[in-house]
Amino acid sequence: MNNVTEKIIDVNSLNLKKGDLVKEVEELCGENLFGCYQCGTCSAGCPFVDDMDLSPDEVIRYVIIDRKEVLNSKTIWLCASCYACAERCPRDINITKIMESLRQIILRKNVDKTKIVNIPKEEKESIPQLAFVCLFRKNVG
Ligand code: SF4
Ligand code: SF4
Repeated sequence: MNNVTEKIIDVNSLNLKKGDLVKEVEELCGENLFGCYQCGTCSAGCPFVDDMDLSPDEVIRYVIIDRKEVLNSKTIWLCASCYACAERCPRDINITKIMESLRQIILRKNVDKTKIVNIPKEEKESIPQLAFVCLFRKNVG
C-alpha cells in the first residue's frame, strides 16, 4: 500500500494551511484522530483493504501528519461504510465517519468522484437503478 496515484482534486486548490486538514476532519466527524495509536485493527477487519491504496489506519496517519494526498486516495471512495472498523477499534474511533468526512471535503468543493457522462451506455442499461442512486448519493456533491 502507501501508493496514492489517483488525482481527483488538486489539493493545493483547497488552501488548507498546515494542520487544517485534521481540524476540518475532526469538525466534520466529531472524532479525535489523535486518539489513534495505529494498532491496525481497523485495517485487519476491513473487507476491502486488499483493493485500497491506503489502509484505513494509514488514512488516519496521513490526515494527522497533514499529508493532503490522502484526499486523492481511492480508499475513501472504496469504503462501503460497513462499520466493521469502527466496531473493532479499541480506541472507539469511528473510522467510517472519518472516511465520510474526507469525501465531504471533496464533494463540498463541487468535485464529483463519479461523472454520469463517463459511465458507458451498456453499463447504464445493465446496472440496477438502485445501484446508481447509491453511487450518486456517495460520489456526487
Ligand atoms: S483500530 Fe482504532 S486505534 Fe487502531 S489503528 Fe484503527 S483507528 Fe487507530
Ligand atoms: S467502514 Fe470502510 S474502512 Fe471501515 S471496514 Fe468498512 S469498508 Fe473498511
